[in-house]
Amino acid sequence: RAKDSGRNATQLFRSTMQEAASIRLQLESELRLALTHGEFELFLQPQIDSASGMIIGAEALLRWRHPERGLRSPADFIEVLEESGLIIDVGDWVIGQACRMAASLLAAGLVRTDRFSLCINISPRQFHQSEFVERILAALEQTGLPAQMIKLEITEGMVIQNLDDTIAKMHRLRRHGVSFAMDDFGTGYSSLTYLKRLPVDLLKIDQSFVRDALDNGNDAEIIRAIVAMARSLGLQVIAEGVEQQGQLELLQLQGCQLYQGYLFSHPLPFTEFGELLRKQPDRPRK
Ligand code: C2E
Ligand code: MG
Ligand code: MG
Ligand code: MG
Repeated sequence: RAKDSGRNATQLFRSTMQEAASIRLQLESELRLALTHGEFELFLQPQIDSASGMIIGAEALLRWRHPERGLRSPADFIEVLEESGLIIDVGDWVIGQACRMAASLLAAGLVRTDRFSLCINISPRQFHQSEFVERILAALEQTGLPAQMIKLEITEGMVIQNLDDTIAKMHRLRRHGVSFAMDDFGTGYSSLTYLKRLPVDLLKIDQSFVRDALDNGNDAEIIRAIVAMARSLGLQVIAEGVEQQGQLELLQLQGCQLYQGYLFSHPLPFTEFGELLRKQPDRPRK
């Protein structure tokens, strides 16, 4: 009997694994179609300077408008994109679409080149492909967008994979005016030594620190340390995931003035983001 139940458990395990694998394959082929069917969208989440209350930028965030299952967030599919390699093509689309959006905001007179930048998330696989720099430059050229208007978000993990190649690519892009942000800062393994060598312009304090900062003294201390470090390295710093007024006040107290989060706005469809810019008090004239 024990033998039987052992065999049953093995069979159950096998069929569960097979089922998981086939669900995954199914998702992969759906994602492939999603790209050709134009089901991906970019939402924009404003980034605010709390001193002036002005929108100083936005982060482009991928959404999948599934014909039956509605709007899906990256948590549901980004891993499959990354592991299947589909992220290369989807990432190309993201870069192109983000540049078109920024160019269109600029043409509408809703933003100014020196006062607004659009942050684009770049996945490790995308960044490490050999033609990455050329792809970015091509998107800028096709849209006529000034390079200063985009900021590429990279993560600590991707940097460690191949430090010299990463730094070389970053320098090439920077010579054209593209800038860089270190996303989810504080959650990875990168040391101060890395940070000193990396040509980044902006640190994004990970939302996990912001979430608990009011109740957890350690998180508040980490924020303070990141802000101090950014300042001494001459970098800008922005906090992610700010949901409450109290969190914003604490951040300001720690010297962090830029923020992004539900407190100000959720990520918005492009048109709604444009409306928000239009309503800004002293919208720059063309
Ligand atoms: P991320 O780059 O760290 O983006 C910030 C995430 O925090 C976004 O989740 C955003 O919607 C969410 N968020 C913003 N404000 C708040 C807040 O106040 N509270 C909370 N709880 N969350 C907030 P989202 O859009 O689901 O994206 C998740 C992750 O997926 C991103 O994390 C990024 O790593 C990845 N991702 C998103 N779009 C792209 C893309 O176009 N390409 C690549 N490669 N990755 C992407
Ligand atoms: Mg990001
Ligand atoms: Mg982040
Ligand atoms: Mg992230």
